Amino acid sequence: MRRMTVLAAAAAASVTLGIGVGWMLSPKEPAAPAPAARAVERELVTGTIASRTTTSAPAAEAAAQPRQTQPQPLPPPPALMAVRAEPAPATMPRPSGRALNPKCENPDALGVSRTVAIDTAGGPGFGAEQFKAYDFLEPGEVVLTFDDGPWPNNTPAVLAALASQCVKATFFPIGKHSSWHPEILKQVVAKGHTVGSHSWSHANLGKKSFAEAKDEIEYGISAVAISAGAPQAPFFRFPGLSQTPELTGYLAERNIGIFSTDLDSFDFKTKNPDKVIAAVMTKLDKRGKGIVLLHDFQHSTAVALPAMLLQLKAKGFKIVHLTAKASVTSLPQYDAAMVKAQAGQTADARPTASVVRTIQEPQ
Ligand SMILES: [Zn+2]
Repeated sequence: MRRMTVLAAAAAASVTLGIGVGWMLSPKEPAAPAPAARAVERELVTGTIASRTTTSAPAAEAAAQPRQTQPQPLPPPPALMAVRAEPAPATMPRPSGRALNPKCENPDALGVSRTVAIDTAGGPGFGAEQFKAYDFLEPGEVVLTFDDGPWPNNTPAVLAALASQCVKATFFPIGKHSSWHPEILKQVVAKGHTVGSHSWSHANLGKKSFAEAKDEIEYGISAVAISAGAPQAPFFRFPGLSQTPELTGYLAERNIGIFSTDLDSFDFKTKNPDKVIAAVMTKLDKRGKGIVLLHDFQHSTAVALPAMLLQLKAKGFKIVHLTAKASVTSLPQYDAAMVKAQAGQTADARPTASVVRTIQEPQ
């Protein structure tokens, strides 16, 4: 039987415990102080995003374009030129409620052993690499997270592998990628996975001005909400895990939870699926549990996942599904700017597939 656990966060007013759950967190315990920005070369050195997209450099555009903060009208999101000509909603729809959770038809599936609902009030942080306060996983429990999508081929392959084992995961899509591939993001949502956000363009937010970083965060949230068709979870992962105290403070004000990692697969560093599996299993064997950072953007991970899930089951690991107590509240001015930018592309836009063709898949 599934247990639903509500994880109360820093400023949460109440703690609700699920059946038989013997732990609780102090509501007085503050969110972990934000450590110095982690070196981000680990993820960005590969140029995984920039080298595989065909738009002009957003950083240069951003630098050339002075940022405004509210209440002035926002500039359009940077480098939206390749956005799909899909009509955006004039206003944000209401949250669609809990995602679909179809019955598992595989009797031998790894499955989900426990679902937790996270109250993100006060912007709690998770993942021992940067946050120590809320270590909510029991021994043997694993949370799978996937960053940088949605991306053709790789994200659908990841979804298929998860579905075959009836596993639910958490995705941190890039806003720009979401705007390019809303139909894939909608598949992620429809399969019952939890969707947070991962900035607009995967910029190193630790090196941006506060105003620019805030725009990156908010455009990412709005792009995911608009592309998915409804606001998603108030979960954020910093690109390259590069954060600053000012930005974690901003997310706390926005009641958005921050997800670092317990266990980094470094899947972007190899094209060999076996090495991805080995990295994850070796670290899990050593640590015994953890929030695992993977990338549905990466081909090697998409290929590795079916065998990885089998190994997790064989070794007795249990999957925990993260859900959010409430949906994220995107900011109207960013929603409006995103909708306006997309609408501006609609008039004379051709289908993206006829303008941008991938000639080399991510590997
Ligand atoms: Zn990333």
